[in-house]
Parts: sequence; C-alpha cells; structure tokens
Amino acid sequence: MRVIDIHIHIQPLHMFKPHALELIKRGRRDYAAIEKYSQEPAAFLKFLDDCGIERAGLINYVSPDVIGFTPEVNDWVARYSSAAPERLIAFGSVHPRYATDAGAEVDRLARIGIRGLKLHPSHQLFSPNAYRDGLGPLAVIYERAQANGLPVMIHTGTSIFPGARNAHAQPILADDVGVDYPDLVVILAHGGRPLWMNEAFFLVRRHPNMYMDISGIPPHKLLEYFPRMEEIAEKVLFGTDWPGPGVPDVRGNIDKFLALQLSDAAKSKILYDNAARLFPPRR
Ligand SMILES: [Zn+2]
Repeated sequence: MRVIDIHIHIQPLHMFKPHALELIKRGRRDYAAIEKYSQEPAAFLKFLDDCGIERAGLINYVSPDVIGFTPEVNDWVARYSSAAPERLIAFGSVHPRYATDAGAEVDRLARIGIRGLKLHPSHQLFSPNAYRDGLGPLAVIYERAQANGLPVMIHTGTSIFPGARNAHAQPILADDVGVDYPDLVVILAHGGRPLWMNEAFFLVRRHPNMYMDISGIPPHKLLEYFPRMEEIAEKVLFGTDWPGPGVPDVRGNIDKFLALQLSDAAKSKILYDNAARLFPPRR
C-alpha cells in the first residue's frame, strides 16, 4: 500500500531551546541519523524510501516561548522541501502574537512553497478560538489560509514539553473554527490523544472540512481510542509524529497499522488517499 506520513518533524535542530532538545534526544539511539536528515534532504528521502513512504508532511511552527522557533523556521522548511517538492509537504506557521502583519505573512508562506499551516496552541500559548476573545490576527490567519487554499493543522492532545499549556489543547476549542471558516480544511493533529478522543471524533463528523491525523498514537491503541474509526475513514490521515517523544520508529508504526482490524479500503484512505486529495502533488 502507498503511504503518506503527514506528520513528521524534520526541524532546524539548532533553533531548539536546550530543554526542548533534551526531550527529543532522551533515550534515542538514532539521534545522529535525525541530525543528518535535518541537514540533508537526500539522506532523509532515502530514509523515506527505506520506510516505504512516498511523501511526508514536514511539521514546523513558530514557538519562540516554549520551543525556541522563530519565523525563520518557515524559510528553513520551504528551502528544505524544495529539494523534492513532489514528495515533501512543507508545513509552516504564523504566530498571531508575534507577526507584524499576519495576513501578509500567510500570503508570503504560500508563495515560498508552504503547503499547510501548523497551529500549536499548547506551545504557542493561545487557544484555537482565541480570535473570539480579541486575538484579531488569528482570524486573519484563518481567513488568508482559507483564501490561499492552505489546510491548517491544529495540535490537539497533551504535550509534555517544558512550559506547554495543555488547557489550549482540547479539540473542542476548534469547533468555533469549523463554524466560522467552513471552507477551511482543518486537520486535528493526534485526534486529541490521550484525553479527548471523543471530542475529536465528534468534530470530524460534524464539520465537512475537518479531518484528524493519528500521529503520536501508538497503533495498537488506535481502535481502543477510536472504536468507530471505520466510520470516519474518509477523514483520517496517517502520520507518525516521528521523532517526537514516545515515537520509536516509523516502519514499525506502518506495519502495526496494517495489522489492525480495519477494511483494506479504510486502510488505503487513511494511509494515502485522503492526504493525496488534500495535498495534490506538486513539481
Ligand atoms: Zn507533532
């Protein structure tokens, strides 16, 4: 089966705050390889080949407070992905509190080859519906993303990075986004795991353009977390969150996913078709 991993963290490691980088390094025997991949697209593409992955979403976001990433991550990931735009799907971000002109920055990201925006509420320290409480630039970001046809991935579920504020990470806070921006494609990363799966399931069924990815969920837990996965197979994207904390390897995740009690049709939608539809290949 063809595979798109929509959620991989190939990041500029030199921009991490020391505490955050510690968490990535902890207990990883493959850290040297991760360093190499973050510097050399060719080495990473070879890794994808070895894992049987056709295309990958490279998730990056501006988080000066918690992770250390400045808007430079956008230019970094755009440059990195330009090595193979037909296989690498660049995700960038605009921070509504730090951008001087949030709308112009979204337009700029679309121009430099960013294919999707990432919002990380618990690392960026605002809720996805904070535009209803006065965070005006956030509304502008959603509007311009919608106008540029950029899907927005919103992190949902807990994070253990030092300084992360998990009150912002509840999926239900994205319900307003579905109401106010019905044409915007929203992907709820991690399906609210491990605390709020019911909320994510509800939202994905409620809003026609709301999806979720299953990254960061150990595959053997997937049907325990989402017993009705088959019903939402049109709206679910495969991802690993590798090399995030608690995600040992990529190929193992694919094999364990393939072994689940799901129809082959559902597996192929989740592993490939849905992401291919949302992110048509570019050359
Ligand atoms: Zn992630």
